[in-house]
Amino acid sequence: ENFDKYIITVFGASGDLSKKKTFPAIFGLFKQGELKEDECKIVGYARSKMTTEELRSRIKPFLLKQAEEPIVDKFLSNVSYVQGPYDTPEGYKKLGETYKILEKDLNNGEPVNKLHYLALPPSVFGTVCTQIKENIYINEETAKTKIIVEKPFGHDLESSRQLQKELAPLFSEDELYRIDHYLGKEMVKNLLVLRFGNILFSAAWNKEFIQNIQITFKEPFGTEGRGGYFNDIGIIRDVMQNHLLQVLTLLTMERPVSFDSEAVRDEKVKVLKAIAPLNHDDIVIGQYGASEDGSKPSYLDDETVPKGSKCITFAAMNFQIRNERWDGVPIVMKAGKALDVGKVEIRIQFKQVASGMFNEIPNNELVIRIQPHEAVYLKCNMKTPGLATTTKMTDLDLTYNQRYQDFWIPQAYEALIRDALIGDHSNFVRDDELDVSWKLFTPLLDFLEGADAPNPIVYKYGSRGPEEINEYMNNHGYRYMKENTYTWPITRPD
Ligand code: NAP
Ligand code: NAP
Repeated sequence: ENFDKYIITVFGASGDLSKKKTFPAIFGLFKQGELKEDECKIVGYARSKMTTEELRSRIKPFLLKQAEEPIVDKFLSNVSYVQGPYDTPEGYKKLGETYKILEKDLNNGEPVNKLHYLALPPSVFGTVCTQIKENIYINEETAKTKIIVEKPFGHDLESSRQLQKELAPLFSEDELYRIDHYLGKEMVKNLLVLRFGNILFSAAWNKEFIQNIQITFKEPFGTEGRGGYFNDIGIIRDVMQNHLLQVLTLLTMERPVSFDSEAVRDEKVKVLKAIAPLNHDDIVIGQYGASEDGSKPSYLDDETVPKGSKCITFAAMNFQIRNERWDGVPIVMKAGKALDVGKVEIRIQFKQVASGMFNEIPNNELVIRIQPHEAVYLKCNMKTPGLATTTKMTDLDLTYNQRYQDFWIPQAYEALIRDALIGDHSNFVRDDELDVSWKLFTPLLDFLEGADAPNPIVYKYGSRGPEEINEYMNNHGYRYMKENTYTWPITRPD
């Protein structure tokens, strides 16, 4: 698809996110031919004193991870740096002048579209947006302004609304793109097609057939010296209120009338509003201790963590959606750090088949693995091959890296930046969606961070989480069959 000419400005170009994610993603699009030299220029902006050459060599090693030097150098020749403050106009004036020079090359001196990527701490969003609006904003027939902002969108309902209040008078909802990078992940984007494009799944996607849903996020490492940052956030704000809730919403929303971004986001908001308040007594919370053999430290051993912190590094909670489709189906979201494996997956367990013909036969499970290595597999019962008439659990399997060897699957940030360039809002968070999600989580967070906060259960680094989790899952309808003979052939890559 062809989009108009652009100047992309990365604010906070000296930072961590821009070198690790933003520039590599813009480069990924360039490498793929999605962005062309004569259509797009990139400008970095920050307070740090740096030359264009210094910015280029700062980001170069991260680009060399994905491509050979000639193409990296070609890309970098389109990147320049402008230094200036965030809170006064002078730097923005310099930016404006730079744009004029670039526009000569790009568009015979006529203005082109601007995409401003704020890779900055949220504390300066308001200031930077005000200055952008006053100094370099453009809204003409042929040249528009778009702003990408990054999480965190607030710390709770109040701060999220405050941030909204700062941005709303400056830019329309149409000009704002709130990134939740999970929405750029291939498997998350596939959810709507998988659900609504297959009669088999769409017919069974309800309380009549589904016994339990799990949305699981596991990280095999702890805070590793970055606990100071994590301690104010905790696992719930880090991945649950945003990323996993987005997954839950796409998984449970009603069929939108089309793929149009507002149609999709309307349905997301509707299902979010149908979720019952989160029950404080129906959760498991944990904090990781040292590993069994003592080789891995506990959360509290991290020197950047305040002594005696009750910060939650593991949580499991049940969502009750009070609508016709889901009433009574336990939907458990669980996430943790320092666990046995690294994975993000959705596991939908279907109800048992009628007894009689079979005594103990496992339930079907549809597993959608978001990362690592995208896969969708349906665990199902088949006859054991050969003379036997016994059953055996096996799978119908789609492993992406085997099935789709010649496809370019964009990284989440690549996909999202491209969406912003072509003006597709479907995979960005809308203001009302954000508001409902904070309404849901803020009372729970207040309770967990208040004076009467319960103590998290200590679990071993490298384990599956607090031991209580199995009983919790069992109480929420998940049937785990130890005697289940299901095995995954280890000779094939996982
Ligand atoms: P960062 O490195 O701390 O900040 C980016 C740049 O902003 C810095 O290089 C600095 O540039 C400027 N800056 C830092 N603190 C500032 C302050 N108090 N006032 C004014 N300017 C300040 O942050 P980051 O890790 O790149 O993250 C940027 C945003 O993305 C944040 O909102 C973060 O939460 C979010 N995010 C980050 C990641 C990640 O992987 N790092 C992942 C998801 C979301 P100058 O001093 O040169 O101006
Ligand atoms: P699994 O890893 O065996 O887990 C199944 C479920 O049981 C998860 O909800 C798990 O919870 C829970 N569980 C694990 N141990 C338990 C215990 N002792 N007590 C109670 N609950 C327990 O998943 P699987 O789907 O059967 O797959 C088995 C292996 O094959 C996995 O490594 C999977 O990645 C691999 N496989 C790969 C593909 C593919 O790449 N295409 C296809 C099929 C299978 P937690 O998640 O919280 O641990």
